[in-house]
Amino acid sequence: MFSSILNNDAELRLLEVRHAERLFQLTDRSRNYLREWLPWVDFTKEVSHTKAFIEGTLKQFGNNNGFQAGIWYKGELAGVIGLHGINWANKSTTIGYWLGEEFQGKGLMTSACQAVINYCFQELGLKRIEIRAATENYKSQAIPERLGFQKEGCVRSSEFLYDRYVDHYVYGLVKEERSQPEAPHTEDFYCDEVLSGKTQVTKVVETENVLAYYHTRPFWPVHIVAIPKKHISSFITLNDTDQDLLLELLGVIKEVASKVTEENGACRIITNLGDYQDSKHLHWHIVSGEPMR
Ligand SMILES: [Zn+2]
Repeated sequence: MFSSILNNDAELRLLEVRHAERLFQLTDRSRNYLREWLPWVDFTKEVSHTKAFIEGTLKQFGNNNGFQAGIWYKGELAGVIGLHGINWANKSTTIGYWLGEEFQGKGLMTSACQAVINYCFQELGLKRIEIRAATENYKSQAIPERLGFQKEGCVRSSEFLYDRYVDHYVYGLVKEERSQPEAPHTEDFYCDEVLSGKTQVTKVVETENVLAYYHTRPFWPVHIVAIPKKHISSFITLNDTDQDLLLELLGVIKEVASKVTEENGACRIITNLGDYQDSKHLHWHIVSGEPMR
């Protein structure tokens, strides 16, 4: 099932029928805002309409024709992102998305889109992704522009919106064009790469709030990293309210360190601070053997 953690606060999850009430409420609250660019808002008058939509999306998923996922922010349903079908002959798809009014301006859609793009290229093996946005919908256009899509042209009278036709810009992204830096330039490798799912890792131990995995560019023959899934900058910025998390983290470190010690006869546990700390997200190295560089 498609799901993706975007950051500490946000994730994508395949829409299910049990989400119908929340999705309808979200639509209802943002009705005026959404209807400016979405053609289905006026036809979504009660929960049963939303339920029928979700049932349709599950059929779509069952038919291997793409999916629709809820965008969840701090436990609240914030919007929807998904694929308008998949053209398997040409390995292409179109991404569609919307957010409730109160969830705008948090960068949610950019990271949601990024996760769906990764999924399309890496998991589904697609070649081309398209995003269409009305020529006057600047907010929607900002997403593909930020994500490196090329503006390829304009489709005239592309969509009927209640009382008028709108033209669409077509944005395209082709797999090879996508920039994939060797070592990502980021201040926070763990939030930006590991927890976002952008960099795939081999997990060693995972609990609700803690992840331990094999280092992607190891410095020691045995090199495991343990991190909290929530953003904490470093060991010395841990708050009193993080005590349960710290215990959970230490529990995972203990479990991993026991295993490493048992298998290798020795183990070191390291956390770096200040200038020694490369990535500004609390992490512990659980290592064994002589440093390799
Ligand atoms: Zn972080």
